[in-house]
Amino acid sequence: MKSIRFTLILLVLAVGCQNTTQKIEPSRRKTVVSHKDKHWSYEGETGPNYWKEIEVNSDCGGKYQSPINIVNYDSDTTLAPLDISYSQSTHIHDVVNNGHSIQYNFDTGDYMTLNQKRFDLKQFHFHEPAEHLIDGIRYPLVLHLVHMSDNEEYAVIAVMAKEGQSSEPFDFLESFLPVLPGQTATVDQAFDMNLNLPEHRTYFNYTGSLTTPPCSESVEWFIFKDPITVSLKQVEQLRALMPLNNYRNEQPHNGRRIRISK
Ligand SMILES: [Zn+2]
Repeated sequence: MKSIRFTLILLVLAVGCQNTTQKIEPSRRKTVVSHKDKHWSYEGETGPNYWKEIEVNSDCGGKYQSPINIVNYDSDTTLAPLDISYSQSTHIHDVVNNGHSIQYNFDTGDYMTLNQKRFDLKQFHFHEPAEHLIDGIRYPLVLHLVHMSDNEEYAVIAVMAKEGQSSEPFDFLESFLPVLPGQTATVDQAFDMNLNLPEHRTYFNYTGSLTTPPCSESVEWFIFKDPITVSLKQVEQLRALMPLNNYRNEQPHNGRRIRISK
C-alpha cells in the first residue's frame, strides 16, 4: 500500500497544474506534499470548495464567479448576433491532457469581435458534465472556447453537447486521443472550428469568471442555448481521460443580470 501511495504522489506532482511542459526537478519529487504545495483538483480537500483557500492570490472567493444556473434571464433584442470569425482551416498543433481537461492548441487567427474589439481564440477544452446549468438542466458535456483581447480581457463561448448521433468534427478531434494526464499528442492538421457551433445561435450573456483557478473575474460569457449532438461513445472517450466530474459547482448570482439574445 505504501508504495502505491508513493506512486500516486509522484503522479500528481508530475502532472502539474497548468504548464504541462514544465519539468519537475528530481529533488522536488522527494519532498512531502505540504498544504501550500497542494494543487487544485475536482475532489476532496483540493476540490472546488477549497480553491479560494488553496489558490490564495486568485479570485476564486470573489462575488462574480462562474458557472451559474442560467435562470431569470431577460430577452434583449439589442444583443447582436455573435460576431465570430473562425477560419475553415485552422492549424491545430497539439492536444494536451493538463490533468484537469483535454485542451487543443492551435495557430492564432480565429477570433470574435465584441464592441469593435478583437478577442483571439486561445484554446478550447471540455468539461464533463457541463458547468453552467440552463434552467436547472445540466448537459452531459460542454466545450469552452476561450478568447482573450490584447489587454487580457476574456470572452468565453460555451457550446453544450447532448447525447445522440455522433459528431464528425468530434470524431476528428478525438482521433488523436487518448492522451494521458501530462501527455501531449501532435495533431498538426487543419480544422474548421465553425463545425462545433450550433446551427441556431441564440445565446445567454452575463459577466462572470474563469471556472478554474485563478477564477479571474470580468469574463464575458456567451452560452449558446442550443446544444450540439455527440454520441455517448464520444462523451465517454473524453470522460475516461479527464478527472471524474471536472466541473465547478454553481456560484451565486449576486444580482447579476443575465440576458438572452434573439
Ligand atoms: Zn472551461
